[in-house]
Amino acid sequence: MLTRLLLCCALVTVASSALAMTVYKSVDADGNVFYSDRQTPGAQAFVIQQRPILDRPRPTYVPQAYRYPFPWRGGPFRLSQGPNGSFSHTDAKSRFAMDIAMPEGTPIIAARSGMVVKTANDQVGRGSDASGNFVRVRHDDGTEGVYLHLKQGSVSVQVGQRVAVGSPLALSGNTGNSSGPHLHFVVQRATEAGLVSIPYEFNQPMGALPNFALGN
Ligand SMILES: [Zn+2]
Repeated sequence: MLTRLLLCCALVTVASSALAMTVYKSVDADGNVFYSDRQTPGAQAFVIQQRPILDRPRPTYVPQAYRYPFPWRGGPFRLSQGPNGSFSHTDAKSRFAMDIAMPEGTPIIAARSGMVVKTANDQVGRGSDASGNFVRVRHDDGTEGVYLHLKQGSVSVQVGQRVAVGSPLALSGNTGNSSGPHLHFVVQRATEAGLVSIPYEFNQPMGALPNFALGN
C-alpha cells in the first residue's frame, strides 16, 4: 500500500514538474542581472508555471454536429439549389444555403431552438431587400438559422421570442431575390468580417429537382 502511495506521489511530481520550470536570477559585482536555468551560489530561484494545454481558452465558435430537421410542414419538397449553387449561393453569407422549392403558404417551422433576433414581414414581391421577408433565430451555440423569402404578413414570431424545434415561424413565399416559390434556409455565424454561412445537414435525405437542362 505504501509503495503504491509513493508511486502515486512520484507520478504526480513528474506530471507537475513538466508544467513548471525553475529559473535562477543572479547579480554580479557590477550590478548586471543574469537569468539562468542553472543554480549558482547566491542565485534567487523563480518557478515559472506553464499553463496546461487543456486550460487554454477555447475558440468562441465550437462546430456542432447538430443535424437539422426539415423546417417546414408537408412535402415532400426538393432541393432546387444547393451549397455553392451558381445561381445565387456564391458569396460568404449564402455559400452553404439550400433552396427548397415549395408552394407559397407552406408552414415554415423552426429547425433548431433559439431566440428570434430579427424579422422582416412587410416586403411585397421583389422589393428592395434581396432576402425578402425573413426570420433570423440565434441558436444557443451562437450560430443563426435564417429563413428567407417568406410570404408578406405571415411572420408570426416577435424579436426576443424563444422558439423550440417545430415552432411555427411564418409561411413560405416568393419575396425578395427569388425566381420562384421556395425557402432559402441558411445557417450563419458572426465573424469579424461579418456574417458567414456555415455548412449544415438535414437529419434526413432530400431529393433534388431534376436538372431539365441536362434532360434528366
Ligand atoms: Zn437561396
